[in-house]
Formats: sequence, structure tokens, C-alpha cells
Amino acid sequence: MRVEDLKLDELLEFRDGVIDFQGRRLVLHSTDAFAQFRKDLFEMVGPGQARRILTRFAYFWGQADAAAMRRVFKWDNVIDLIKAGPRLHALQGVARWVTKKLDVDPVAGHFEMDVAWHHSAEAEEHVAVFGRASHPSCWMLAGYASGFMSFALGHDVYFVEHSCRATGERVCTAMGKDRASWGAAINPHLPFFQAADIKGKIQSLTEELHRVMRELKRSTERLTTLERPPLVEVRSKAFTAVLDLATRIAPFDSSVLITGESGVGKEVVARLVHARSQRSRGPFLGINCGALPETLLDSELFGHKAGAFTGATSDHAGLFEAAAGGTLFLDEIGEISHALQVKLLRVLQEREIRRVGESRTRKIDVRILAATNRDLAEAMRQGAFREDLYYRLRVIEIAIPPLRERKEDILPLARFFVERLRVKLKMPKLRLAATAIDPLSAYAWPGNVRELENAIEHAAVLSRSGSITPELLPSNVVLSAGARPGPGQGQRSLEQVESEHIRAVLAESGGNRTRAAAVLGISQATLWRRLKTVKDAS
Ligand SMILES: [Zn+2]
Repeated sequence: MRVEDLKLDELLEFRDGVIDFQGRRLVLHSTDAFAQFRKDLFEMVGPGQARRILTRFAYFWGQADAAAMRRVFKWDNVIDLIKAGPRLHALQGVARWVTKKLDVDPVAGHFEMDVAWHHSAEAEEHVAVFGRASHPSCWMLAGYASGFMSFALGHDVYFVEHSCRATGERVCTAMGKDRASWGAAINPHLPFFQAADIKGKIQSLTEELHRVMRELKRSTERLTTLERPPLVEVRSKAFTAVLDLATRIAPFDSSVLITGESGVGKEVVARLVHARSQRSRGPFLGINCGALPETLLDSELFGHKAGAFTGATSDHAGLFEAAAGGTLFLDEIGEISHALQVKLLRVLQEREIRRVGESRTRKIDVRILAATNRDLAEAMRQGAFREDLYYRLRVIEIAIPPLRERKEDILPLARFFVERLRVKLKMPKLRLAATAIDPLSAYAWPGNVRELENAIEHAAVLSRSGSITPELLPSNVVLSAGARPGPGQGQRSLEQVESEHIRAVLAESGGNRTRAAAVLGISQATLWRRLKTVKDAS
């Protein structure tokens, strides 16, 4: 098929009030009506959204035309198919295209087209309702061209109009290029092509709201810690030593690595370091590096520029910037990828960051506290963790002993949690029954302080009288402590008890296996195996 051979009367078939365009229905409409519609659209949704709606409408139109051309005719090469777009647009009465330059390399994905649009109907419509425009206004032309060429080439092409008849020029001129050739220059125009619709807007507002709430929560927590020192009494020598060390090193800006099993309270210690430091008036922000996929973690930490990737609808400052003047707590640092390790090392060395998709660097002013429950020294020996980063992070190490090595702290902690739950659960009568003290103290707490906290909450929620008695504690706590089984519990096998406990913990963590495994103090793989046996048995 040759482009010049396309003829409107051959492309269209008229019958019974239907205009058939190669299997698709077309309708003729008046430009006057479209001009009025354009005006309404402006008034109802504003010029930005109006431009987006019109651009996208014409984009689909261009796409549909390109699809029809490819379906119906056999083209010698992609260039001929590309030329069918301008030809159709002219046949449909939208504008006459004059191609000034066309540079296409389908293999490399390169596309560049300079074009002049004569007698643009859209420019006339615009002037008819608004008078002379201050900016190029042929958005549907740009949308159609982009849609047609993107479909023909099989990848994203964008047209941008740079001079327009609506502004008083004789003809409209535009330039189309593939995404890569545009580079960052296309970014301001991209939103008009994308359905970063209400859903996207709500999403970005929600993200922003979450961020603000997170900061607010952190700062209120910080205020309460400052005003009211924690009421937990520390009895063990081991944990007293930890707190002493944390307090002593707090005023210096050195990086600190906090180690210990999961649930031992690494974040509590990090907050203490922050609260006693010169940065205590600044924010304390934290992130769990093991909880996010790499790309998300990357943009959370470093921020991004609008358009850096799909969904990046606006510029976004990362945690390194948001924590300016304060402290950034990187939990589960052992989980970050090699690429991020390299980036983080650079940050620690240069004290500057670069947002994703941006070339300029920004100075940062944060203290970094990292934490891990993994043996990083071992990971380093195996090559999974960079040695230089390890030493940069571990200028000072605070190792928190597990709860079973500081049993003296169990009771004061349990009382502290009861007190806190009294407020949280609105149970003013909540108390720890004396009989619960022995089983609590005897249990090994593989999930550490977090498991203790959950066990107390578990019992509190089940308690009717407000007393936390042994039989209300999770069964593994009671059984391992050798206490007398509660009513109706005597006939159960250890396996039954274990499976019940696993189910209870899973239910409590809302089915989240990562969290449940942490509470149970076992790996996710182990949890999975146990669940399987639980299922097989029942
Ligand atoms: Zn124009």
C-alpha cells in the first residue's frame, strides 16, 4: 500500500446512517459544537485537566487509526505506515500536515519528526471561543500524532507543539520524538498524556498525608519521650550497660550499628541515642529496609524527580532529606542489595545524595543509625555485605542482649506493657495477676520484648475480669514454664498446643507471616514448614 493511494471514499462506506471506517464506526461532528464543548471543559475542570482530556481523547483516536491501517493494508515498511497518519488526519479534515523532517530507525527505536500543521481546526475552535491564545493550543493534534506514531512504532512517541495558529502564527509547528530522544525535556508534558487521573492524584495526596502523619507521629513520640522519660525499670546489668553506652555516645555524630535478635528493642535504643543527642530537636525518621522492594526503598531513601519512573507524579524528597538536622534509622540494614550498599557508602563518604532521575547532588545533614539482627561480620566474610560499608556503619556498635539473658527485666517490662494497655484498650482495671509472674519469668522469649508485649496484649484482650492470669497467656508460654495447664488444656498434645499458638499469632498479626515469624522467633521457612504440618494434621 502506498500512502498517496489512500482515498476517503474508498476508506469509508456509507449505509443506513452508519459511516463505516474499515470496521470501525465514524461520526461527523461540527467544529462549532466542539468549540463550545472545549469552552465548557475549561470551565468545568480547568485548563490543565481540559488539555489532558483532549490530548488523551485524540491519542486513542490516533491509536485506533494506526491499528486500522495496519490491520487493513499491507505496508512495505514502517515509514509508509507512519506517513498514513498525516494523510488520514488531512482526509478527516483536521489539518494538513507538511513533514519538514523525518528520521526513523525502527531497530534502534529512534524517531524524530518535524511537522507543520496547516489550517488546524482545533486552533480555529480555540480562537472562536477564547480569542487569541497565549500558548500553543492544538492538543488534540499533538495527541493524535503521538497515539498514531506510538502504535505504528510499538513504543512511546510524544509530539509537542511549539508554535500555533491560535497564538497568531500562520501555521502550527510541532516536533515528535521517542521517549529516550526527548530525555528530561518531555517531563513537563508527560502528565497530559497519562491518566494520572483522580486516582493518581488521590494516591499522591494520600502518600503525602501518610508522610506528614508519620512525621507528626514521630515528633509527638519524640516530645513524649523528652517530657516523660520511659517508665521501664531496668534491673539487669546487661541492659544497663547498653543504656549507658547509648547515652555516652549519643552526643557525637558518629554512625552507630545496633545489633541484636529481632524484637529486642533496637529502635528503642536508636530513639534514646537520638533523644540524648544534639539533634534531638530535629526529626527522628526510620525505615525498615527489609520491608520494601529495592526500587521503592531507593526512592524512599533518596527521593525522586517527577517522571523518573511510572507513578512518580511529582518531585519527592527522600528520607535523607526529610531527616535534615535529625537522625535516620535504617532498620534491617543487612537486607539491602549490593547496588544500594554502594549508594549508601557514597552517602556516608560524601555526605550528599542524588534523587532518582536527577543529576544534581544535594548536601545532607543527618546522623545515621543502622540496625540488624543478622551477623553482618559473617555476611561480610561471605561477600554478601560490603566490608567498607560495614566499617563505615559500625563506628560504634551497640549489641543488645536477648531477653533470656536478662531475665530480671521481664517483670518490669511486663508491668510497663500492662500500664500502657490500660490506656490503649481502655481497661482501667487491667492488672497482672501474681500467678502470672512465674510463667512469664521462666519462659525463654525467643521473640524477645516484642513477643512479651504481644503475649501481654493477647492475655489482656482475652481477660474478662481485667486480671492477666497464666491461662490467658499464649499456651506455649505457660506450658514451657511448667505451670499447671488451665481448664480444658490438660488433654492436648504439645503439637496441638504449638499449632494453636501458631494460628493465634498468625491471626494476631493479620495473617502477616513475616511478622508472625518474628514474634515466634523462628525463620519464615520454619514457620512455613510448621504451617504445612498444622494443615496436614487438621
Ligand atoms: Zn496549533
